[in-house]
Amino acid sequence: MKDYLVRGLVNSKNCRVFACSTTHLVDEARKHHGLWPTASAALGRMMSASLMMDAMNKNNEKQTITINGGGPIGTMMTVCQGNGKIKGFVGNPEVHYTYNDTGHLAVGVAVGKEGTLQVIRDMGLKEPFCGTVPLQTGEIGDDFSYYFMASEQTPSVVSVGVLVEETNEVIASGGFIIQLLPEATEEDISYIEDKMKDFPPISSLIHEGKTPEEVLKMIFEDVEITETRDLFFECDCSKEKMSNALSTIGVKELEDMINEDHGCEITCQFCNNKYQFSEEDLKNIVDKIKHGQD
Ligand SMILES: [Zn+2]
Repeated sequence: MKDYLVRGLVNSKNCRVFACSTTHLVDEARKHHGLWPTASAALGRMMSASLMMDAMNKNNEKQTITINGGGPIGTMMTVCQGNGKIKGFVGNPEVHYTYNDTGHLAVGVAVGKEGTLQVIRDMGLKEPFCGTVPLQTGEIGDDFSYYFMASEQTPSVVSVGVLVEETNEVIASGGFIIQLLPEATEEDISYIEDKMKDFPPISSLIHEGKTPEEVLKMIFEDVEITETRDLFFECDCSKEKMSNALSTIGVKELEDMINEDHGCEITCQFCNNKYQFSEEDLKNIVDKIKHGQD
């Protein structure tokens, strides 16, 4: 099953819904960053939630989400731009914890919960929108759910999950979000609460081959799908962008790199691609800066 996302409406229960399958893009992130299983689970859950939240944006703004819970995984970040593409990273990819009682990947331990989840939406015009909430458990789903309630006053069920093989390969990843519309009644709420009791983990459903539509239909028989979009892990870095970044560090530093290191290598933090700059490349950048100052 390819990676994709659906959004829909359930008129009979006054809610809107999102569901996604993200197995390939999370495994792609795992390969780029060398993620250990708990890091794959943490970033994978965050990527699913980020992509669904991105599908809520009507204006295709750039959406940057940062989670830092003070745990060993460090800062986690995802960036989306309304086109189904996502890039992201974690501070320390080599973390692996499991819960003793269940053997499940201990995402909350890796992420920590002494910190915040921050969402920035940048339209490129006026001041960017910025919303920050304290983390609840560091398990990601709970934290996004709290964000929707605290920052957008929208009661939401957020379920995200990742299944990792013993070889470290990501074999299933996905999620769903249910958001109550203002017209929702007490009956609608109890219907959803009932359905969520003993609902199977989303990662198991994806692993069984259930599509995002089928997952939603398990909860709401009459869900109406209104949009489908394909999803990808893709970074937009390039040597040109790296060169622009280099030109901001100053002539003195660049000249040191030329004279002492005879070049430099820059790694993109979002995809781990490496860019080599020769002495010649660096001299060109210095020339450009000097000409720019004339
Ligand atoms: Zn990159």
